[in-house]
Amino acid sequence: MTSQSVSEDLRQENRLLRRRLEDYLAQAHRNEAKLRRFQSHELRLIGLNSLFELVQEIIYPDPSVFNWDVVTLLLFDPEYELRRILEEEGVVVSDHAGLMFAADSDDLDALFPSSLFPTLGTYKPKQHAPLFATTGRSPNSIALLPLVRHGRVIGSLNIGSYNIERFVKGVRTDFLEHFAAVVAICIENAGNLERLKRQGLTDTLTAINNRRFFDQRLKEELERSSREAVPLTCLLLDVDFFKKVNDSYGHQTGDHVLREVAALIRAQLRGSDVLSRYGGEEFAALLSRSASQEAADVAERIRHSIAEHHFINEAGESFRVTISIGLATYHPEKISGTHKLRGDVLVGHADRALYEAKSSGRDKVVSAGLIEPGKDVWF
Ligand code: GH3
Ligand code: MG
Ligand code: MG
Repeated sequence: MTSQSVSEDLRQENRLLRRRLEDYLAQAHRNEAKLRRFQSHELRLIGLNSLFELVQEIIYPDPSVFNWDVVTLLLFDPEYELRRILEEEGVVVSDHAGLMFAADSDDLDALFPSSLFPTLGTYKPKQHAPLFATTGRSPNSIALLPLVRHGRVIGSLNIGSYNIERFVKGVRTDFLEHFAAVVAICIENAGNLERLKRQGLTDTLTAINNRRFFDQRLKEELERSSREAVPLTCLLLDVDFFKKVNDSYGHQTGDHVLREVAALIRAQLRGSDVLSRYGGEEFAALLSRSASQEAADVAERIRHSIAEHHFINEAGESFRVTISIGLATYHPEKISGTHKLRGDVLVGHADRALYEAKSSGRDKVVSAGLIEPGKDVWF
């Protein structure tokens, strides 16, 4: 071998090594960028404190950050609790097609039969269509990430790409695994936080919210009503001659009546309406986006359903109970300027209407007239 050919070989080897090094460096840069992208997304998720914000951030990721074409989230929700939490926040769950719930843990376990690691591969309609049915065009490759807490699958985060080579079997999934672990913790935390918020805000006798919760929500709902220029109605409901129920049948039957009345009222309201026990035998409700007439119809249905109900005392005898309802509606869309109504004023108007219902015979619904702008009313 001549010295010329030796040096040519070395040069070639050198070129090869250099190219390989460049490839490694490029790969390292790509990984670092990917790591940074995942890290900042994860930090954003950790920083959110409402379940709905979290869900939105997960199913609608910034397309300029992740080139995922479709993302859906399937959550284990055996007692409909997560759905209730979202509805109470005013979320219309059906508006978010990418958010799904499983009442049966077998449905989730079936997605990850052999291990609790991400499943990557081509999209198989038979198997995967239910997870992506909501998104119009089907993906060509998918990554299903099990969300695991304490060894149990609490959900599945499903990512789809129109590129068939985007998610292929066998590639490393460290980033996705880490991401799934963070998402699982965030979802569990958000659920716990919502549960905590509800403790101390619930009436133990009737299992509906208490006055503290009502006062909080009244403020929020009034703000939303002003912001979106949509009406908000407050109902105050007071059981008629309730003292007589206690006197005639004992307070345990009285308690039973209060529970049933709460359930009968709830049954006529939408999930997003607020219902609370305002005091002894008095309830308060907030009907968002309800104009006076619509709310009066709801109130009338509540009154009727209670008047028609057969309550049963401890001796098994049936008896009737009636309720009086006062109603006041804030109509920001009918008010010019930026005036805002105070919560105590709205409740005050409903209370006066309730008083009128009581003094004019009970078992009726009375609406307060339009709340006119006045010095003491607005701020
Ligand atoms: P009106 O038609 O004017 O509203 O008459 P009323 O008898 O309903 O009103 P009043 O305010 O005089 O009486 C309310 C009663 O409700 C008195 C109180 O003992 C009873 N009450 C309040 N909280 C509870 C409760 O948690 N359980 C039971 N059993 N009774 C309660
Ligand atoms: Mg009362
Ligand atoms: Mg009463």
